[in-house]
Amino acid sequence: MLNREELKEIAKMRGDGAYFVSLYLNVNPITNVKDNYGIHVKNMLKQTTEQLSKPVLKRISADLEKIESYLLSNKRIFKKGLALLSSQESKFWKEFHLSVPLRNEIIVDQIPYIKPLFGVLDNYQRYAILLVGRDSARLFLVHLGEIEEYAEVHSENVPARHKKGGWFALSEKSYERHIDYHVSMHLKDVLKKLDSFLSGEYVGRLLIGGSEEALTKVRAMLSQSMADKVIGTFQADMSARSKDILDKAEPILMSFEEKREEEDVDEMVAKALKNENAVLGVEDVLNALQEGRIMKLVMLKDFKLSGKSCSQCGYLNSHDIASCPYCKGKMQKVKYIVDLIAQKAVEQGALVEVVDKNKKLKEAGNIGAFLRF
Ligand SMILES: [Zn+2]
Repeated sequence: MLNREELKEIAKMRGDGAYFVSLYLNVNPITNVKDNYGIHVKNMLKQTTEQLSKPVLKRISADLEKIESYLLSNKRIFKKGLALLSSQESKFWKEFHLSVPLRNEIIVDQIPYIKPLFGVLDNYQRYAILLVGRDSARLFLVHLGEIEEYAEVHSENVPARHKKGGWFALSEKSYERHIDYHVSMHLKDVLKKLDSFLSGEYVGRLLIGGSEEALTKVRAMLSQSMADKVIGTFQADMSARSKDILDKAEPILMSFEEKREEEDVDEMVAKALKNENAVLGVEDVLNALQEGRIMKLVMLKDFKLSGKSCSQCGYLNSHDIASCPYCKGKMQKVKYIVDLIAQKAVEQGALVEVVDKNKKLKEAGNIGAFLRF
């Protein structure tokens, strides 16, 4: 999973004169029916290599070979976007599989090119999940439907409850206070670590899981700025598996995202009705796409439509026309024009928001866009 810390480390890398090849590739199986990634890469390379000198080309030949064989043998694990960073000269290789489409790009430089990855971090909401108990805590990050455990905290000084009295020789009441003190210290420590993690990674949303008792206690200790980030809590066992944590968090995440999407759609529809840099429906979206005006595409997840695509320039049309109005090229049938619209929008630098369910968007034609101008 992507994280800012790691990207920052990569961004600092200097190969002492070594070259890096950074490849970004759309590997969505729907828009790459023949999964001809090799051809894409070769075409992209051709354009890049024309600008590169022979000595540089020679130095990156091992990278290109490695990338080519990687693309051939790893198709099964591809998602929608693939990023490969390679510098065989400095023995560096990194791969990122993303469930969002990326703009096809290949960059050869003496530093790794990672701007598109920072873009994915910034444009797709990430959520932190804190699982908290009386003497331990676990931290997870959720991004693009995936969960990853990031850190674990154990506080060793929290006395166990069953040692009532024990060698502390304290009365039951003061022993409870004694435990409380240590639990509070533990939670204080956890929240401090959490705070620095959230600000370091720019994570703006937080979920908290744990026993009812732990939840009450930790909520009472949250600073205002952290409390503002909490979008929900759930009960969970400290030893729960990541997958079970994600299952419990999912309903909270979904209703949160649904609300955000609703606000987006409302804004888009209102703007479109006022003719203010927004359009609704596939026809107007296609026109805006052709003019390169889309800033953010918003579409329903289950919206499917067939159409036609120009075999020469890639122009898309939802009607049954025989030749391209722009270049007279032959129009070919395409089964999934919506995916091609999304990919083309990404190529133009637009954001794509896929909305799960939304009545208003459905009534407005399943698709719409915020425009740049
Ligand atoms: Zn054409």
